Amino acid sequence: MLAMTSSMMVPVIDVQNNNFKELWPAMLLAIKTSSFIALDTELSGLGTRKALLAESIEDRYKAICHAARTRSVLSLGIACYKKLENKADDTYLVQVYNLTLLCTEEYIIEPQSVQFLVQHGFDFNKQYAQGIPYYKGNDKGGDVHGQNMRTLFVELLRARKPLVLHNGLIDMVFLYQCFYAHLPERLGTFTADLSEMFPAGIFDTKYATEYELRFAASYLEYAYKKCKLENCKLVEVGGSGPHLFLEFCSYSGNMRSYIDYRPCSDGSSQEGPLDICLRFSAYGWCPNGSSCPMSHNTDLILQQDEKVKADKRRKRKQKRKQKAAQEVGSHEEDCVPSGKKPCLEEGSAVLDVGVSDAVTAPGAEGEPMNDQPQGEEEPSNVERTPTLADEGNCGNGVHKPQAASADGTPDDPPPAAKVGAEGKKAEGGTHRAGFDAFMTGYIFSFACTLKGRPDESSSDARLPECQNKLYLSGKSVPLHIVKSTFSKSSKAHTHKMEMVWGKN
Ligand SMILES: [Zn+2]
Repeated sequence: MLAMTSSMMVPVIDVQNNNFKELWPAMLLAIKTSSFIALDTELSGLGTRKALLAESIEDRYKAICHAARTRSVLSLGIACYKKLENKADDTYLVQVYNLTLLCTEEYIIEPQSVQFLVQHGFDFNKQYAQGIPYYKGNDKGGDVHGQNMRTLFVELLRARKPLVLHNGLIDMVFLYQCFYAHLPERLGTFTADLSEMFPAGIFDTKYATEYELRFAASYLEYAYKKCKLENCKLVEVGGSGPHLFLEFCSYSGNMRSYIDYRPCSDGSSQEGPLDICLRFSAYGWCPNGSSCPMSHNTDLILQQDEKVKADKRRKRKQKRKQKAAQEVGSHEEDCVPSGKKPCLEEGSAVLDVGVSDAVTAPGAEGEPMNDQPQGEEEPSNVERTPTLADEGNCGNGVHKPQAASADGTPDDPPPAAKVGAEGKKAEGGTHRAGFDAFMTGYIFSFACTLKGRPDESSSDARLPECQNKLYLSGKSVPLHIVKSTFSKSSKAHTHKMEMVWGKN
């Protein structure tokens, strides 16, 4: 069987004001027939990072609310994953939309965000000329039945599908404020509202990457490529468990002209520095940005991780043999859970200081990841995924760098700091939100495939351990999306729900 990695092209459908209505039926169909929906946003800014990382989660929520009221969503990526029946493997049909948006009210746009977006190919001319207009806060009557962003959001709720995001708290707050209603004052009310809005559950792939997949790093691009690599290995070994496969529609007619094909990987040869930037390898960003002399190439980082892992395994094996020769009964391998804690926050905090020193991530001697449990002479590294025999080289070649996630979330880099070494040869096109949503969906489906139980109904993707848990930077516990006994739903939300479920 051929792995799809090496030649996969992802069609991203470009939605803007002049084709929004034309594409409406297709988008709705994709949403309604999907098994789950992954979203991603590009924002005009986030405000002070410090506030976003406040110790108190209630304070964090307030800070994000403030950002959502004063900033705007510039584009929205929607990736609809539909699981196909009657296939031996887990196969999904994937449709990816990238919506260019234009908030019609005044909003703040942060200079670093502009700089970052432009460097990554965001087209502001197109946004102002062709952005799909929307206003924030509560409904303003009249337009609740038209084809607009608010109605699209309502359709998303009506579909009752699992919703998947990467580091999703900020996205959720912005989506609520921009396309749904005024944000409630209290976090408890917000989570109560969300639990009713998305009864099939909200899933955060950053949380899943940290706590279920347990990769060495959890930023979007790394997690995506690591999933792809692991899936590839599974495919190569064949046999036992299910693998993940994706299919895309072949579009015809007018649709064709709206599509941008994003190569997932093209096997092109390595350019740029070969020494990995430790900070970038751990956090997915580095304060030196494009002027960093070290490599920010995720493919290279991943390759080296794999090598380090293999070397360690080899060494450990030798050591174990020696030990076993001395004393009988060597202990089991690899039961140690990853010692990695989300230490991204420290990284983010550094941003405020505007560091320019070439600080190395805590990982010791040239080791890219800082995930060792302290005091262990033989770190068992992060090896939770089925690591198989030799380094499969399927899709493991050097891929073209993809720009890092621009979800602007605090532990992913802030926009200004995020421009990687590859920023100069930036990705063309303005479909980052769409592609990021695609990557998010990929991580989720891979995790479902990996963790899925064969006896389960195959019609939907499930990751019960991660349901309704949003990742919180610097916290070991996630934010639970629940309606607690003490929290009420907001008035605006209750009103909207009546409309969503057609009681009007
Ligand atoms: Zn760097």
